[in-house]
Amino acid sequence: MRLGCQFEDVASYAKGVTVVQRKGSSRQQEPALALIGADGVWSTVRHQMHPDVQPQFSGRIAWRGSADASQLPREFNANRVQLWMGPNAHIVAYPMKDGRRINVVAIVTGQWDRPGWSEPGDIAEIADLFSPPHWPIAARMLIGAVEGWSKWALFGIKDGGVWGNGTVALLGDASHAMLPFVAQGAGMAIEDAAVVAMCLQEGKDNVTAAFARYEKLRASRVARVQRTARTTGEIYHLRGPFAFGRDQFIRLVGGRNLLARQNWIYNWRAG
Ligand SMILES: Cc1cc2nc3c(=O)[nH]c(=O)nc-3n(C[C@H](O)[C@H](O)[C@H](O)COP(=O)(O)OP(=O)(O)OC[C@H]3O[C@@H](n4cnc5c(N)ncnc54)[C@H](O)[C@@H]3O)c2cc1C
Repeated sequence: MRLGCQFEDVASYAKGVTVVQRKGSSRQQEPALALIGADGVWSTVRHQMHPDVQPQFSGRIAWRGSADASQLPREFNANRVQLWMGPNAHIVAYPMKDGRRINVVAIVTGQWDRPGWSEPGDIAEIADLFSPPHWPIAARMLIGAVEGWSKWALFGIKDGGVWGNGTVALLGDASHAMLPFVAQGAGMAIEDAAVVAMCLQEGKDNVTAAFARYEKLRASRVARVQRTARTTGEIYHLRGPFAFGRDQFIRLVGGRNLLARQNWIYNWRAG
C-alpha cells in the first residue's frame, strides 16, 4: 500500500497496465495486473478512459454542518433521523458522535455549480434560504444552530454509470456518482468493492472477463438506485397541491411501509 500518491496516467497492455503516479515532486511508473479507479466523481482514471464523459450538475446544492446537541431542545436529541420537506429544498438531521452533535444536511435548488470538492458556506446565505415562514421554527432553529457550513454542488454521472475496459475498472462515484437522496452513494461504492473482489476471486486467471462480469452485475442495479435517488429528490421538493398530495400519501402509508418500499435496496444479493 502506498499512501499519498496521486494517480496521473495509465497505459494498458494485453496482460496488464503501467500506472503513472506522483508523490510530491517525484513521478513513478509501476507495472500492475489491473487498475481499479475509485477516485470519486472527478475521477482522473475515468477521464483517461472516457474524456467525453463529464459529471452533470443537478441544479441542487448540499449544505452540510453540525450543531452542539446540548444547546438544542430535547426533541432534537432523539436517536432518529428528521426530515423537513419544502418547495425546492429539504433538510435532514440526525445525531452523531454518540448523540453529542447533530449532523445537518440542507439541500437547496440553485445555480452555484462550481466543480470540485466542498467549499465553505456563508451562514447568512443559508439562514436567508430557510427564512421564509413556511419553514417550521424547529427547522429554522436547527439551521441557526450550525456553527460552520460547507457546501457542495451536486453532480452525477449518467444512469447505469460508465465502466472500464480491459484491465482497467471504475468503482463508486468514479463510475456512477448519484444524488444523495436515498443515501446510497457510499453504499453502492461498498457494494461495488465486494462484487469486484468476488469476480476477481472467481476469475483470477482472466482479469478482463472478471471486470466484464463485475460491470454486468452492477450496471442495472446502480441505474435503478440513481433513478430512485433523483425521483426521491423531486418528491421532497414538490410544491402546492403536489406537496399536499405527497403529505397525505405519507400519512396514509405510514413510516414502516414507507421504509419497506426500499427493501429492494437493502436485500440485494450479487449473483
Ligand atoms: C451531501 C452528500 C450527502 C451524502 N450522503 C450519503 C449517505 O448518507 N450515504 C451514502 O451512502 N452516501 C452518501 N453520499 C455519497 C458519498 O459521499 C459518495 O458516494 C462516496 O463518498 C463515494 O465514494 P468513492 O470512494 O467512490 O469516492 P470518494 O469518497 O469521492 O473518494 C475518492 C478518493 O479518491 C481520491 N482521489 C481523487 N483523485 C485522485 C487521484 N488522481 N489520485 C489518487 N487519489 C485520488 C480522493 O482524494 C478521495 O479520497 C453523500 C454525498 C453528498 C455530497
